[in-house]
Amino acid sequence: MKKDLRKKILKVRDQMTCNEVTLISKKIIRNIQRELKLDDYQVIGMYMPIGNEVDLRPLITSLIENNKTVVIPKVLSKEKMEFYPIESVNDIHEGKFKVLEPNCNKKMPKNEIDIMFIPGIGFSKQGYRLGFGAGYYDRYLVGYINQKVGVCFAFQLLSDFQTDRFDIPMDKVITENPLHQYHGED
Ligand code: ADP
Ligand code: MG
Repeated sequence: MKKDLRKKILKVRDQMTCNEVTLISKKIIRNIQRELKLDDYQVIGMYMPIGNEVDLRPLITSLIENNKTVVIPKVLSKEKMEFYPIESVNDIHEGKFKVLEPNCNKKMPKNEIDIMFIPGIGFSKQGYRLGFGAGYYDRYLVGYINQKVGVCFAFQLLSDFQTDRFDIPMDKVITENPLHQYHGED
């Protein structure tokens, strides 16, 4: 069951220290930079970490310094999420449920986002994502035609789990372990 699996993985992730999260996240950022030519993309979808999610904020800062447009999601309703540009990792405010939201309200059209980094509670080796259970990314990714990159710690890479017809697989999953990289095209 997805529900039990979420609980099990979150229990482990919640035990990580801040230091571990920061250090391993930096390794993951190095792997992202090695695996993907981010220079080739202009508009990049990111996220603000919740709890002990992989922290890509140092990468966000460096992308913005390199004149990339970084967009992050904001939940608009029970079913809908959209992405908005930020000018720095601090260009955010606390929204409902303490989730950090972008300040800007000019939404980025979905397919103008060239590549999107997506956090998860787990990913299967086929790139299927286990999220918090609300299906926001599943709904958002319908009709999204560009690169989808899952990001997680190595222990969150799962052997096959139950997937549903609406689950949309990632094109790649990146962890701190360079051997773990999943490539959809392989
Ligand atoms: P998560 O992806 O967050 O792990 P699930 O895959 O379990 O969560 O999906 C949560 C709920 O979202 C599902 O029960 C489903 O009803 C809904 N959902 C997912 N994708 C869609 C979609 N494309 N259209 C409508 N509802 C969807
Ligand atoms: Mg899903």
